[in-house]
Amino acid sequence: MFLTINNLNKSFINKGSSELVLSNINLDVREGEFVSILGPSGCGKSTLLSIVAGLTSASEGNIELSGTPIKGPGKERGMVFQQAALFPWLTVLENVMFPLLPVMSKKEAAEKAKHYLQMVQLGSYTNHSPHEISGGMQQRVAIARALAMDPALLLMDEPFGALDEQTRSRLHEILENIFIETKKTILFVTHSIAESLKLSDRIVVMGTQPGTILDIIELDFPRPRSQSKEELLSYEE
Ligand code: ADP
Ligand code: MG
Repeated sequence: MFLTINNLNKSFINKGSSELVLSNINLDVREGEFVSILGPSGCGKSTLLSIVAGLTSASEGNIELSGTPIKGPGKERGMVFQQAALFPWLTVLENVMFPLLPVMSKKEAAEKAKHYLQMVQLGSYTNHSPHEISGGMQQRVAIARALAMDPALLLMDEPFGALDEQTRSRLHEILENIFIETKKTILFVTHSIAESLKLSDRIVVMGTQPGTILDIIELDFPRPRSQSKEELLSYEE
């Protein structure tokens, strides 16, 4: 198995008392799979993703990536958050190059960054500043930056949550293409039923208090991605 999450529990200590946030999470993800984690606000989706990223420690349980236990962050796991968090004083190209510079020459980093910027259809914006491009474009830069490190697993925490419907649709298409082109394994957090139906192979449905997996839905092939926006939106509560 590519990613294995076993008997994961997470408690936070708040004002001296311990609050159980994730309870008995078990999940196996196959290589090349697109898995959405769907659930209401506060059910622990971000905490779960952050633990897989190695940014937060689990209270109990273990996580293995290709048979190796996860201890802290690693370059085989890339992360995209709701906010792109680009360096405002660097250009689009320099933002994508930034994490590459410690591991390769400047020339190689620039080539790689350009390749991934083309993949997110920003090839003609390399010399722009982050403030000169839209929120959706900034998020595409963040995706290119994560992909440029060539992670085996891409973790995305409500990456399109702050975008309007039209921009979001465009980003879905771009992500779909990336998924097909790079064959990445993607763990995608969302609270949108429509988004999870459109993008995923499987949907992990979480419930709250404490955060736990209620159901795992395997979607039929072909994926319901070809459905119209109207059909998909009719699933929305
Ligand atoms: P979601 O992403 O599904 O909205 P979160 O993972 O952000 O949920 O939060 C789950 C629960 O854990 C919430 O009750 C939140 O208040 C709590 N929580 C998250 N991070 C921390 C933290 N660093 N310290 C204490 N409590 C936290
Ligand atoms: Mg969250």
